[in-house]
Amino acid sequence: MQDEFQNALKPSQISEAGKLILRYPYYAEIINPLLVYIYENGGESHTIRSKITYKPLADYFDLTETDRLRPEDEILKNGRKSPYWNLLVQRAKDSVYLRYIMPAARGTWPLTNQGIGFAQQLIKNKYASLNQANIHLSEGEKTTYLSTKYERSIIARKICINKYGYKCSACGINLADKYGRIGEDYIHIHHIVPISSIGKNYIINPETDLVPVCPYCHAMLHRKNAPLTVDELKQMLKKAEEQKQSKAQPIQTQD
Ligand SMILES: [Zn+2]
Ligand SMILES: [Zn+2]
Repeated sequence: MQDEFQNALKPSQISEAGKLILRYPYYAEIINPLLVYIYENGGESHTIRSKITYKPLADYFDLTETDRLRPEDEILKNGRKSPYWNLLVQRAKDSVYLRYIMPAARGTWPLTNQGIGFAQQLIKNKYASLNQANIHLSEGEKTTYLSTKYERSIIARKICINKYGYKCSACGINLADKYGRIGEDYIHIHHIVPISSIGKNYIINPETDLVPVCPYCHAMLHRKNAPLTVDELKQMLKKAEEQKQSKAQPIQTQD
């Protein structure tokens, strides 16, 4: 049955251009992550320059750099050198233009009020399904808020995991190794950029600013305000392990 389905479209029946097109998500799949990205990174007005959306969205969908930069002409034979991926993101934007994205200066994409509401709903649903335990942080200070905001960003999270996987950057555990299937795909994301160095127009770079950590290590990182660095925590783990080892030395017996 399944084989029948898979054989329905033989590779030989797909043109070269078709094969290239199949490497990309359908434009409609790009709509939700695009809206969430603008909402999360567009400041208080939820407005973003179109050109900064292309790379993170490509990373979100795990596209290679070649796929991200492939010129339109390679697929559409239209002589245009701009990336085909940009065209897909623009098509996603166009499909919700006026409803969720307002008319604005060329290359600027501000969310409408309806767009903001829609993005909030997406985020709420996604967080519910992520079921990510809230770590209890010290005093609800602004710094803590800022940090958790980046740590809970859906797009940033996905990009970080695409790059680093589900292994804890501090202790190296993969929760699936400890808990089996229920631990699969479960990890916290920690923001390593010092809050003091974050300006008003800070846009997160999930590949350099975020690391995956297990819930225990994450809680330990946040026991200090400002948080420990991952390296500091690694040192502590090492030291604690060494102490444990030395205590475990067999007791000298006297005979
Ligand atoms: Zn850990
Ligand atoms: Zn954290």
